Amino acid sequence: MQPRARTFRFGLLRPALLAGALLALAGSLIPASGQDGPARNAAVAIAADLASQGGTTRLVLTLSKPVEARAFVMERPDRAVIDLPEVNFQLGAEAGRRREGAVASFRYGLFAPGRSRIVVDLAGPAVVEAIETTRTREGATLVTIPFRRVERDAFRKASVAADPSPSAAKAPPPGEAADTRPLIVIDAGHGGIDPGAIAATGVYEKDIVFAFARALSERLEGSGRYRIAMTRDRDVFVPLADRVRIAREAKADLFVSIHADSISAAPQVKGATIYTGSEKATDGESARLAERENRADAAGGTDSGEGASDVADILQELTLRETRGFSAGFAGKLMGQLAPVMEMSAKPHREAGFKVLRSPDVPSVLVELGYLSSKSDLEKLQSEEWRMRVTGSMAKAIDLFFAGRATLSRPGPAAPRKAASIAPVSP
Ligand SMILES: [Zn+2]
Repeated sequence: MQPRARTFRFGLLRPALLAGALLALAGSLIPASGQDGPARNAAVAIAADLASQGGTTRLVLTLSKPVEARAFVMERPDRAVIDLPEVNFQLGAEAGRRREGAVASFRYGLFAPGRSRIVVDLAGPAVVEAIETTRTREGATLVTIPFRRVERDAFRKASVAADPSPSAAKAPPPGEAADTRPLIVIDAGHGGIDPGAIAATGVYEKDIVFAFARALSERLEGSGRYRIAMTRDRDVFVPLADRVRIAREAKADLFVSIHADSISAAPQVKGATIYTGSEKATDGESARLAERENRADAAGGTDSGEGASDVADILQELTLRETRGFSAGFAGKLMGQLAPVMEMSAKPHREAGFKVLRSPDVPSVLVELGYLSSKSDLEKLQSEEWRMRVTGSMAKAIDLFFAGRATLSRPGPAAPRKAASIAPVSP
């Protein structure tokens, strides 16, 4: 039995309503905004409860059907990762934000096509004990994940250096050589409950940048030269820190984030800008833009914090400096290819403190394709012909970047071919 003391329910519904609600939800997986919705057969999660007893805190997920869950823990920061098949999370906006026992907070979402993940920030060292699945009388499935507090030493022994889940870290099967093609992570900004900028016509940034990101992914994948992963492959909210984490855990060789800004007070401002990360913004405009984009987590009901711990030690600091050199190099190549085919802003390469550009070890750029507040930009952003032209030039810049980096590629088996986060872009 679940301990009932100090139980917090994060779901939308009370238990008595569960059975009917699950049926209703399972039958109503309508894609948002005309894009791909959650997979039709995905389990639906409608509640996530936390309760503590002794030194153990249990996270109980209420699901429409059983799922296979695997967990592992990682140090610095202390966290537990629960890998699941795709789950359609229908939790309240406050889900995951409440502290309870060993659990400081948790985030959840689509980690890759067909694969969902819950990342639990631990309040201190704790290990995940056996995950249990039970069925309620109403027909719902309860998946119970127990976190037991342990000493630091025991935690260190249990924690893994990197994602050990079979889909992300398994060595290639014998006879199959590791896929050493560069891995590019394409990040479509915003998504799900976070629409990003909104044009006067009602068009959302999240939809414009998704269409562009998908076209770019397809083009790159079609070349056969790269492995491609998208931080979201549909209209789904992904916290900023998770976008960074996806790229880092997959050992990406390049991260390209796609956005489209809006300045309603200045409809004459137009053109594309390429941003690289820096603690110091090029100018006030860049600083304000980064601040706006960094608010995406708040829009999505989560806040990943400042992420400063990601750059905690001096070694990472050095890596970051080297990586930012590569980012700037790529930004230069990108500018060279884009300027002839599209309108660029007055200062086309700028720096600012975007949260998604904080990977210490993945060269990262953020491209603001144009302004939704500019009539001419908005027209282009919605044109298929324009999109083909610009993605073609971006692909050329990426070819140039990796041609110049051939001798710098990562040693050993980077992210393997079968990684789920590297699934083909869905049609
Ligand atoms: Zn944006």
